[in-house]
Amino acid sequence: MLLSDDISAIKGVGEKKANILKSAGILTVGSLLEYFPRDYNDRSNVKCINQLVENEENTFVAYVDSAPENTHIGKLIITKARLKDDTGGINVVWYNQAYIKKALKKDEKYIFTGVYHKKNYRKEVVVSEFEKIDLNEPINAGRIVPVYPLTTGLTQKVLRNIIKTTIVDIRTQIIDFMPVDIRKEYNLCDRNFAISNIHFPEDDDSFFIARRRLVFEELFVLQMALFVLKGSTGVKSGPIFSVEGAEDICQNAMGFNFTNAQKRVINDIKNDFLSGIEMNRLIQGDVGSGKTAVAITVAFMAVKSGYQAALMAPTEVLANQHYETFKNFFDIFDIEVCILNGSIRKKEKDLIKADILSGKAKIVIGTHAIIQKDVEFNNLGLVITDEQHRFGVKQRNILSKKGKNTHVIVMTATPIPRTLALILYGDLSISVINELPPGRQKIETYAVNSSYHSRAYSFVRKNVEQGGQAYIVCPMVEESDVVEAKAVQTLIKEVSENDFKGLKIAVLHGKMKPTDKESVMRDFANGKTQILISTTVIEVGVNVPNATIMLIENAERFGLSQLHQLRGRVGRGDRQSYCILISDAKNDIAKERMNVMKKTNDGFEISETDLKLRGPGEFFGTKQHGVPQFKIANLYKDADILSQAQKAAVKLNKDNNWRKRKNYELLAQKVDKLFFDGERIEL
Ligand code: ADP
Ligand code: MG
Repeated sequence: MLLSDDISAIKGVGEKKANILKSAGILTVGSLLEYFPRDYNDRSNVKCINQLVENEENTFVAYVDSAPENTHIGKLIITKARLKDDTGGINVVWYNQAYIKKALKKDEKYIFTGVYHKKNYRKEVVVSEFEKIDLNEPINAGRIVPVYPLTTGLTQKVLRNIIKTTIVDIRTQIIDFMPVDIRKEYNLCDRNFAISNIHFPEDDDSFFIARRRLVFEELFVLQMALFVLKGSTGVKSGPIFSVEGAEDICQNAMGFNFTNAQKRVINDIKNDFLSGIEMNRLIQGDVGSGKTAVAITVAFMAVKSGYQAALMAPTEVLANQHYETFKNFFDIFDIEVCILNGSIRKKEKDLIKADILSGKAKIVIGTHAIIQKDVEFNNLGLVITDEQHRFGVKQRNILSKKGKNTHVIVMTATPIPRTLALILYGDLSISVINELPPGRQKIETYAVNSSYHSRAYSFVRKNVEQGGQAYIVCPMVEESDVVEAKAVQTLIKEVSENDFKGLKIAVLHGKMKPTDKESVMRDFANGKTQILISTTVIEVGVNVPNATIMLIENAERFGLSQLHQLRGRVGRGDRQSYCILISDAKNDIAKERMNVMKKTNDGFEISETDLKLRGPGEFFGTKQHGVPQFKIANLYKDADILSQAQKAAVKLNKDNNWRKRKNYELLAQKVDKLFFDGERIEL
């Protein structure tokens, strides 16, 4: 039998069982061995009959004293037997398992597990498992027993049996793909031991040693595979920028002082600019923490050093807004800023592209239009992507390849839990802006049901009449632009005739022409409109400091991180801001989300909870990021192992030729298989 053999190669696995196993995703002998227990029962403490503990699960060895008998009470079948050992006797019972009568033989010795009940004069054990004592080591009792995830047609006993058989059979064939030097350095047991002991631990210690090894291997291989996928090997040289004095010039021009957190991040970047090594840095900052100001400052450094800088944003609305902000700033210094997006006409686009190629345009802002093939730069030295989680890793790479050696910054306002960030951005240095500009007030958040609608609307009205502005966000009802537009249209008709009569209202949705979107946004930013009814087009990045209310309809349809993003559109000035979540959902997860939103404004705390509520597979787009479901690793429990596995991966990845090292072939195969075997996952 080989690890790669079909599951039906295993003794005792016929066609029927093979099909059941296959439906559980267990196709080969190897994948059976990686079908890990979800839990364990410690049945290693074997007692005598006179030591049984009441109301607890006990494991004991005994002879069958009187053979089992079945009695029927209505539909219930009760099987009773009497057992004995040197210390005494005990009654045992099974419910609705008539076959036990034949399975248990008088005078033979078995190991039993069950809960011992003592009621009045009746004492008995309700048996959950038993197994004949013979020359083989027991697998269902008398030891730490694995508990597997089951599917219909599978029982614990069957799984334990075939897994045990397989382990015994194949033991010598498990060749460890982890190179010995890595195993030594990180103190990892060999794979054979790990596989045996994850299924049938000899004792507690062996289990922990085995589990640590398997978690390490899972995270390590994932990390290496991500490195390969991102094409990030080795250390590359990067352009050196002159950074002296830039920070002060920028602060003066912007009219505020940087927060300490902003200063710290700018400092991290300055050090990278001076290092002569290509920078790859993630800037994480909560919504409104002032990432754009940092981007402007470091772009200024690039341009002052004779290089071009590019900034890519996920939506046109956001790209336009960045263009305005950058242009206002760089005009002061006569530095040319241009914008490229999908809706600019060809003729104009050609002119802009010519400016980018000639180097006349120093700063290029845009949507993914700037990563098209025909966009060529003169001397690109710095690439920034905003709201990184909206882009794939590939797009980031394409943009940076437009320069010879480019420094890369990715910014995200959706804080990612530390462990997940390590996995997704393991090849990046991370800087965090963990402080908001002074004067910001906590956004007061309310979660109400739709019976509060008119009250909420009159609250909006009052606030707007006092000079504030408001967003009303409707979820996309279906994956259809038409429906989406309609939902918003219906709402606007209703409210403009009733609750918001006489107020200036505008609509924004995905189906509008880009130029229309732009003018709607401009009017809102300039205060010409008071209420903006929108779909989630405005979710990321939009900055209108005078807006003070964010009202979200059907809030249950949004994930936590998304709600936090939306809320981050207000509270950007010094006026008190409010977020009103309207939802009639009664399920626990929706309720929990609303509670978290009410409780905290801290994006990092929110993302941790989001991860917990949704699990890593679904955490905003991690599926699209290609993070697979883990077989054994757990992002909460295994943060320490993760950081070690990551350290090992980073170190190995520094060697461009690691695949050619002696004894590394198997590891290389394993790494390549993860993403490139069969269906390739797009990052
Ligand atoms: P985000 O991190 O969400 O991208 P922005 O960069 O859009 O945040 O900044 C939000 C607002 O805070 C902007 O109006 C910006 O001008 C302002 N801002 C940024 N940094 C500071 C600062 N240090 N002091 C005062 N206001 C600041
Ligand atoms: Mg931003």
